[in-house]
Amino acid sequence: MEKTRVIVVGGGIGGLTAAAYLSMEEKCDVTLLEASLEWGGCAGKFSRGAYTFPVGATLGLGFEAGGIHDQILNDLNIEIDCVLLNEVMTVNIGEKKIVYFKERDQFLVEMEKHFPEDIENIRAFFKHCWKMASPIYEMTRHFPVLPPVTPSEWLRLLALARPNQLKLIPSFNQSLQGVLKKYDLDKNKLFVHFIDGLIIDSLQATSKHASFLMAAIALDVYHRGAFYLKGGLYKVADAMVKKVVENGGTVKRGRRVVSVSKKDGRWLVVDQRDREYVGDHVILNTPLESLGELLDPSLYHKLPRKTKVEKGEQWGAFTLYLSVKEEVFPEYFPLFSQVVPDPLKPVTEGHHLFVSVSSDEDRLRAPKGFRTMTVSTHTNLSRWGEQESYDQLKEEMTNFILLQLETVLPNVRKGITQLYPGAPKAWEQFTNRPSGGVGGYPQTVKSSLFYDKSHRSNIKGLWFCGDTVFPGAGTMAVSSSGFHVARSIKTDLKLK
Ligand SMILES: Cc1cc2nc3c(=O)[nH]c(=O)nc-3n(C[C@H](O)[C@H](O)[C@H](O)COP(=O)(O)OP(=O)(O)OC[C@H]3O[C@@H](n4cnc5c(N)ncnc54)[C@H](O)[C@@H]3O)c2cc1C
Repeated sequence: MEKTRVIVVGGGIGGLTAAAYLSMEEKCDVTLLEASLEWGGCAGKFSRGAYTFPVGATLGLGFEAGGIHDQILNDLNIEIDCVLLNEVMTVNIGEKKIVYFKERDQFLVEMEKHFPEDIENIRAFFKHCWKMASPIYEMTRHFPVLPPVTPSEWLRLLALARPNQLKLIPSFNQSLQGVLKKYDLDKNKLFVHFIDGLIIDSLQATSKHASFLMAAIALDVYHRGAFYLKGGLYKVADAMVKKVVENGGTVKRGRRVVSVSKKDGRWLVVDQRDREYVGDHVILNTPLESLGELLDPSLYHKLPRKTKVEKGEQWGAFTLYLSVKEEVFPEYFPLFSQVVPDPLKPVTEGHHLFVSVSSDEDRLRAPKGFRTMTVSTHTNLSRWGEQESYDQLKEEMTNFILLQLETVLPNVRKGITQLYPGAPKAWEQFTNRPSGGVGGYPQTVKSSLFYDKSHRSNIKGLWFCGDTVFPGAGTMAVSSSGFHVARSIKTDLKLK
């Protein structure tokens, strides 16, 4: 029996999920091509000696029983060592140190401690968010696809419809800002900043533009379970690669795909050294901005308009990777925290930091007596100009971030043994994201859910997964998109 050849371009979590699922099918012959020498893309790692630094993603979500990662990893028969956090993170905002508890009641008590003046409205606001998120969470267990494009996607969606979802309908076109207003919380600037800081990482938007339903999911998800993964989230990527190989698939690193075209009715994929790969299906786990360069113009022309994304729609990230002596940490320092010394400033450009620290027992990350840290902030890509100003900005951002970090870890500079900045060009170079744009597109009312971008291309045998298509950013979301593609290909091939 001749096998169906599937070529997956990109070994981020999206592409890896699709590859791992399809490699389980006898009828599929999977080849996975990754440009860099590391797997996992934004959820990958890099190592320097005995130190391992997560590139971007550090906080594990969706690993709880029945969560997206849990379901996918179970299907793939993969076990991951992860620790459930009762304290998800500490948000240092102005003078406040707000502990984000997993338990909802404990979290509301913490809210009362910090926002006593508005606590009744805050309680009602969160309860409303959680109530709206609950039926969506139940639905996501079945991996619904938005926007539905084919009759089978519509049928699947309709089959999942339940009476308790009717209450969601009025919220589809609501912004988070509208709901904050309804609860009279829009005037509480500190609370709004707190919320903006929580949602910017997953939705790439603040309350002003963010879709309320997407925000409700983002604010609910921490209470479902947030996890520390020993070593880091790259463990998921590595385990998936291993699965593909065990199942007879082929995986290749250092293969940057430079063109995708059609030849004699099949797909022709060519890498940077003119090596050719022929397939019946091609899955692109690359940001949609790459399509203009990768695809033959006659094919690009046929893509849905929404999919032809110009550069500049994503945020950039600026990151600092540090190895730090244990002695500069106080007795307790949260594994995950946000640092926002001045809440009057925007939640970008170093004014808002997401700080992840390796656990003192995590020998996969650092030797005894040391820890590694990944510190990240959103940055506007248009700020990053020509070489001279670029280098200057990189230095300024590094110093500024260290200053901000000192507000929670006063002796940090004394303890740093290695420091690597990650500006947009580094992101472009190591994760192949055009211009260094990361995190997918802002999940606004006009661009999310039914308005989001499909994993389908309208061209037979060409598929997309990753954070620039539904359901967006985060390892949990991109893994879903990889699942969607694998399921659609299996349906095409009439496999169960
Ligand atoms: C700073 C930062 C912090 C984050 N923190 C978290 C977090 O704590 N928790 C969380 O869940 N999520 C987090 N995220 C989001 C999450 O990391 C991403 O949404 C997700 O990993 C993206 O996966 P992906 O598969 O879409 O793409 P990517 O991770 O970008 O992977 C795509 C892969 O394709 C390869 N590739 C691209 N072009 C080509 C080509 N032409 N040929 C061959 N290969 C190619 C790339 O090298 C890359 O390995 C964070 C993101 C960032 C940037």
